[in-house]
Amino acid sequence: MTPSNNTLSKLLEMPLDQLMARALKTKLRHRKDQFSLCTIMNVKSGNCTEDCSFCAQSAHHSTNATIYPIQSVNEVLKQAEQAAQNGATRFSLVASGRGPSPAEVETYALRIQAIRERIGISVCASLGIMDSKSLLMLKQAGLSRYHHNLESSPDYFSQVCTTHTIFERIETIKAAKRIGIETCVGGIIGLGEDMRQRLNLALTLQKLSVNSVPINILVPLPGTRLANALPPSIHEILRTIAIFRLLLPRQAIRIAGGRETLKDLQGLLFMAGADAMLIGGYLTVRGRPVHEDLQMVERIKGIWQQCSS
Ligand code: SF4
Repeated sequence: MTPSNNTLSKLLEMPLDQLMARALKTKLRHRKDQFSLCTIMNVKSGNCTEDCSFCAQSAHHSTNATIYPIQSVNEVLKQAEQAAQNGATRFSLVASGRGPSPAEVETYALRIQAIRERIGISVCASLGIMDSKSLLMLKQAGLSRYHHNLESSPDYFSQVCTTHTIFERIETIKAAKRIGIETCVGGIIGLGEDMRQRLNLALTLQKLSVNSVPINILVPLPGTRLANALPPSIHEILRTIAIFRLLLPRQAIRIAGGRETLKDLQGLLFMAGADAMLIGGYLTVRGRPVHEDLQMVERIKGIWQQCSS
């Protein structure tokens, strides 16, 4: 049920401590102490035709991002195996570009099949705009979940990207759902949007009934259109996470890129309702050592248990 305007306004005005307490309670009620870990691999990098404002891989920007074609089966298997050894339960193939050609879809299908047969870890993919026929080919190869961020609110997306629309992204998500692939869809905090637009993104995801919601925190990268953007404050980030949890009580709220910018405060994200994260680094930015992340997860689960008892 869509919350009333009055409820939404109250969420925006609620003091942060109350908002976080409600979000954590909601997380524990609906999802107990579940904490899910996934790892992504940049399977094809750079030279993208699209102009997403934050992205180092866009050909519209001058960055040092590496450019390479689709990685070999052996390389994909090596990284999937490492992810499984690190404790990740999902491994995602992420490619730059507007969307794959028919030949590329076949190439990805072979890699997905190899991971399923040889490593067994659940496979996700993030390959851009796709139709249901191509997605079905990936599903038959063993794909369980498709990742495709909306990045921002529908009324702000045109400020983020001008080479495609948010509706093309939404169509891809609907196509995945129609053929029974789970969906992982979220966005980035700090693209210049305001709190109401973040809330609007959460409501859009609620309507789409996605399974997992990755939230990135902008890391302004030299050479991109947002190189000089001011990163969002910890206060804004925690409010956003808590609001997403309250509006999406049953979904995994997954902290993706940018959490390292919070340094020793990043554990607070998981006291505000988040309960999943990427480990092992990002597309063009390194993450912190996996053993430190795993230690943090154990400590957080310990606190969650205390809060539940
Ligand atoms: S986010 Fe994806 S579609 Fe947008 S520029 Fe980067 S690689 Fe291309």
